Amino acid sequence: MSPPVSALKASPAPDAVRDAFIARLNTIAGKLDLFGRLKEARAALSGRLTFTTSFGLEDQAIAHAILSQNLDIDLVTLDTGRLFPETHDVWAATEQRYGVRIRAVVPEARDLAKLLADQGANGFRNSVAARQACCHVRKVLPLKAALDGAQGWITGLRADQSAHRAAVEFAAVDAERGLVKINPLYDWTRDDAVAFARAHDVPVNELHARGFLSIGCAPCTRAIAPGEPERAGRWWWEDEGKTECGLHANPLHLAARAKLKEAQHS
Ligand code: SF4
Repeated sequence: MSPPVSALKASPAPDAVRDAFIARLNTIAGKLDLFGRLKEARAALSGRLTFTTSFGLEDQAIAHAILSQNLDIDLVTLDTGRLFPETHDVWAATEQRYGVRIRAVVPEARDLAKLLADQGANGFRNSVAARQACCHVRKVLPLKAALDGAQGWITGLRADQSAHRAAVEFAAVDAERGLVKINPLYDWTRDDAVAFARAHDVPVNELHARGFLSIGCAPCTRAIAPGEPERAGRWWWEDEGKTECGLHANPLHLAARAKLKEAQHS
C-alpha cells in the first residue's frame, strides 16, 4: 500500500517513498478538477513549488486556479527578450486582474553578450545547434535559475499536444533537476482549456485568435493553418518533430518515469 501523500514532507525523500508518493498523486488526479489538483499538489509537497508560465492558454488556466485560490505557489516567467508584445500585454493584464507581480527571470547579460557575439542577432536560424544555443541561454539556463531550490515544478503540458508529450502524467520525477514535475492539465484537450478560460473570464493572449496556438519567442513562432499539429508553428524551419526547446526534452526524466512505471507494474 502506498504511504500517504504527506510522506514526501520528509524531503528529500528516499526514492521508494518519492515514487510511491508520485504514484498516489497520479491515482487521485483523475478524481480532481484543476483547482483540486493544484491544491493537492501544494498540500503534498514541502518547500517551494514553482509554476513557470509563458502566458499561453494552458498556463493562464493554471495561473487562474493558483491565484484565485491564493495558493502558496511561486509564479515565474522566463523573459527571453524575444517575446511578442502581445505576450507582454497578457502578462500585464494578468498582473492587473489578480493584483500580483509575476517574477521574471531573464538571461544572464554575459551569456547573452557572448551568444550575440558568436551568432549575431538572429543566428539561431543558421543551424539546429545555433538554435539550441540560443534556447540554452535564453530559456534553459533561466529555467535552471527559476527552479533552483524548488521541490516541485508545475507546467502546462498536455499529453495530446504532440507525440513527444504523449506520455505526460499528472506527477513525475524530474531526475535531472531533482524535483517533482506536476502537470495538472495532463489529460486536458485544447478545447478544455478554451472552455475553462471562457468560463472563468481568464485573460488570454490575443495571438491565439490569429492562429498562434502555441506561443513562444516571436521570431520562432508562426500561426498555423487549420488541421496542422498544434506545435507546428514552433521552429517550423527545422525537421518535423523538433518542436521542443530543451525545457521539457529530458531523457533522464523519461528514463526515471519508465523505471517508476516498471516498479508500479511489478
Ligand atoms: S525560441 Fe528562438 S529566439 Fe527564443 S530562445 Fe529559442 S531560438 Fe532563441
